[in-house]
Amino acid sequence: AKSGGRDRSMLFDAQMRAEALRLLDLEADLRRAINREAFEPWMQPIVRLSDGEVVGHEALLRWNHEQQGPLSPDAFIGVGEDNGLIEQVDWLMYRRVFEWLASHEGGGYVSINVSPSHFRSEDFASRLLGLVSACGADPNRLRIEITEVTLLDDAPRALRTLNELRENGVYALLDDFGTGFSALSYLHRFPIQCLKIDRSFVAGLEGESHMESLALIRAILALAATLGIDAVGEGVETAYQSDTLRDLGCVYGQGFLFGHPQPVSPPALHYPDDDAA
Ligand code: C2E
Ligand code: CA
Ligand code: CA
Ligand code: CA
Repeated sequence: AKSGGRDRSMLFDAQMRAEALRLLDLEADLRRAINREAFEPWMQPIVRLSDGEVVGHEALLRWNHEQQGPLSPDAFIGVGEDNGLIEQVDWLMYRRVFEWLASHEGGGYVSINVSPSHFRSEDFASRLLGLVSACGADPNRLRIEITEVTLLDDAPRALRTLNELRENGVYALLDDFGTGFSALSYLHRFPIQCLKIDRSFVAGLEGESHMESLALIRAILALAATLGIDAVGEGVETAYQSDTLRDLGCVYGQGFLFGHPQPVSPPALHYPDDDAA
């Protein structure tokens, strides 16, 4: 039993080391990818549930990884958060989004995701607005998606940032609503234009948690109505979910039922570095 324990702890050490190496590798990859600007937005439509009309798009970050293909942020955001790399990736991504906005009239608004640490950084609002105008994009067609954590972390600063953006036409959406602490008393103090109902509630409409999900979505919609703001149901995959949300009074929806995230440009088949080689 003793040697078994030691084997297990050696195995554990080896796994820890392998995981640490993997993360270091990923971080090095990420730095190279930043130099190559190997990031791009994929767009997913947001529709009006009553008639399916596309009112806007959410821009979702993809990393064109040389070996692993397009990577979703969940695969790498963890290794970029503490060292400021995600901020660099975000700025590369936002530039591509604003260029797209500037060259596509119509098609409604585009929302971008902002990490809490990034939103907190000094002069985030003025830097964002500066890039929007440098790209020739209309700030009135841009929205930002933040989470409850982002608001509560440093409320006075969050309020200043949101007000500056709002005064310049950039509205804020509250992402993944219902999964955080939902300090409801705070909500009305912030210039938030829309709540995005987290997809766990939408998914829950079908299955054992049906009644509970129904009640929670009703409560979120009642809150949105009280505050006089819009709601978007996230992760809508079935007609049943879409109809139920609509019948409950949710005006907008987003999810695979209406469209998967799609690249806006053909994938980069070679990198600028290849030319030099
Ligand atoms: P999120 O903001 O909650 O984005 C929604 C996620 O749900 C996206 O995952 C999207 O592809 C996925 N999704 C959309 N419709 C459906 C559906 O019907 N069913 C299911 N199962 N999933 C659906 P994705 O693209 O992998 O993004 C993951 C997260 O990464 C996002 O979650 C967001 O928090 C973050 N993220 C995305 N783009 C950026 C970015 O440019 N910057 C930063 N900092 N974070 C980003
Ligand atoms: Ca989002
Ligand atoms: Ca979300
Ligand atoms: Ca999320």
